[in-house]
Amino acid sequence: MASSKVSLKLLIDAKEDRVLFAEASKEFIDFLFNLLRLPVGTVTRLLTKNAMVGCLAKLYESIENLSDVYLNNPEQDRNTLLRPSAPLASGYLLPAANDDDHHDTNSSGTPNLYMCTSRCNYAVTYVKDMACPSCRRRMSYAVQLVGNDKKVAEDSSAKGFVKGVVTYTVMDDLEVRPMSAISIVTLISKFKVKDVSSLQERVVELGMEEGIKLLKASLQCKNVLTSVFLEKDNIKKQGISQEIVLESETC
Ligand SMILES: [Zn+2]
Repeated sequence: MASSKVSLKLLIDAKEDRVLFAEASKEFIDFLFNLLRLPVGTVTRLLTKNAMVGCLAKLYESIENLSDVYLNNPEQDRNTLLRPSAPLASGYLLPAANDDDHHDTNSSGTPNLYMCTSRCNYAVTYVKDMACPSCRRRMSYAVQLVGNDKKVAEDSSAKGFVKGVVTYTVMDDLEVRPMSAISIVTLISKFKVKDVSSLQERVVELGMEEGIKLLKASLQCKNVLTSVFLEKDNIKKQGISQEIVLESETC
């Protein structure tokens, strides 16, 4: 699932080296919409520190480097901040969130919960052997979570957000609309393409690598599709490094 790819049909103006728009299926639109649900901590981690825009990487790094003595619950706090639970299902073309890493799961796939060994209260925790808040004994008595909502969450993320029967158009600046024959004609005329023979259709695949590039570009520029899918062409043509392309004013 995590390695799944989504294909996208681009309409390219080869002369101007730009993507006019893309025809996209439901999967790509769900991927785009899902970007809005990512916690900033997750975005910072996905883009890695060097690629992150602004100063958030420093903030992220500060939390990584802050000694345990300054945190109320070192392990939990660091996880909460640096690996926030993201509603990221695999299949959304980004690495799956690691929010479940610190939960042991049992054979039925539900997380194990633990109670105080002397069961002095009704508190439960995901963190095995945590000190009981009332008696300070280890919370290592496993209890079972039943009727869990994970199944429900999986079902709804399998469905995604938008309906699948329609094809959508995505503009270079990520404006999304359902597609119709009339709108395509209107769109093309809006671009004032001088030479229609320079229009090309190209089918591209979007995998995890492109997914992350797209996320980065969406934070930085208004010509996201061009910068993600035509970037290599630009480098070849102009013989300049990738860094310069990314820092240039278009992106
Ligand atoms: Zn207890």
